[in-house]
Amino acid sequence: MEQTNRQAVFNQFASDNYAGVCPEAWGAMQRANEGFVSSYGDDGWTERACEQLRSVFETDCQVFFVFNGTAANSLALASLCRSYHSVICHELAHVETDECGAPEFFSNGTKLLHVDGPGGKLDLAEVERAVTRRGDIHYPRPKVLSLTQATEVGTVYTPDEIGRAAEVARRHGMRLHMDGARFANAVVSLQASPADISWRAGVDVLCLGGAKNGMAVGEAVIFFDRELAHEFDYRCKQAGQLASKMRFISAPWIGMLEGGAWLANAGHANDCAALLEKLLREIAGVTIMYPRQANSVFVALPEMAAAALRTAGWHFYSFIGSGGARFMCSWQTTEQDVHGLAAAIRLAVGDAMAAGGVK
Ligand SMILES: *Cc1c(COP(=O)(O)O)cnc(C)c1O
Repeated sequence: MEQTNRQAVFNQFASDNYAGVCPEAWGAMQRANEGFVSSYGDDGWTERACEQLRSVFETDCQVFFVFNGTAANSLALASLCRSYHSVICHELAHVETDECGAPEFFSNGTKLLHVDGPGGKLDLAEVERAVTRRGDIHYPRPKVLSLTQATEVGTVYTPDEIGRAAEVARRHGMRLHMDGARFANAVVSLQASPADISWRAGVDVLCLGGAKNGMAVGEAVIFFDRELAHEFDYRCKQAGQLASKMRFISAPWIGMLEGGAWLANAGHANDCAALLEKLLREIAGVTIMYPRQANSVFVALPEMAAAALRTAGWHFYSFIGSGGARFMCSWQTTEQDVHGLAAAIRLAVGDAMAAGGVK
């Protein structure tokens, strides 16, 4: 009833990429839609977007825009590795579980080695073990350590933790890659500067997410060590990731960055998740699975309750064990949406407990 401004009522906390395009990105794309402009990134919009990223990151980094996060991660990793190298990542890492082997494909065989660690973060002792376990010619040589910020389970690495990961990487002659699909959420969560949780902490390459932050399409691959970007433009072109009408990917970045919408969007999404966490903690039978530090809340629900929620039309992912549910907030989530979900969970869990379906 209150949702008359929406196409249809669609109750979803499935992903931040279910959201639309925010006004700042949309407006910038519209402003870029004037007249003829040079193609393939050789244009003023793209130049300004790169400059803006250099200003936000306070360094003279090399920037490339690609269509999505899978391409950004895969091509960045491929550029850091040779085919006989390996990348060490968390077992829940998007590059390991959700990119259909693209990192291996684009690097012609570089192997991902996954290690465990609590809260979606790498256990550095495990990393050390994976690196030093073998030093012989039969083992794919570790070349990159990959972190996800914010992590796949909604936690964030502190600047100190990133620094320690970088130290381990350096000590073993490895590079540090960061999958920053939700980097903005981490910046806001930590109240840290983008530089402090990237290059100043030792990150060599950052894949900075745009889509989940409120853009239609487009992620930025940011090389803080310019030498690593050697011939990256060819890699993008070969992979089908060089947009001919590049201005429509780059201009929205200007719209997102110049007025701070990227952080406002992330802050709003984080606040919605914080509110959801607070409301869910008041419900008996609901367990919060990980510290809520970004824009998602993971909860263990009675299975019956999760099923009832779905039947009631709520969309969410449950891919971590039986009964574990992920509720993801975005720039477009409203407080009212959060209250609606919490009320629906309270009802579903209450019914499940009354029916004795606590497990
Ligand atoms: C969404 C996401 C990506 C990018 O996914 P695409 O669908 O390829 O854009 C990368 N890393 C993480 C952690 C993500 O959640």
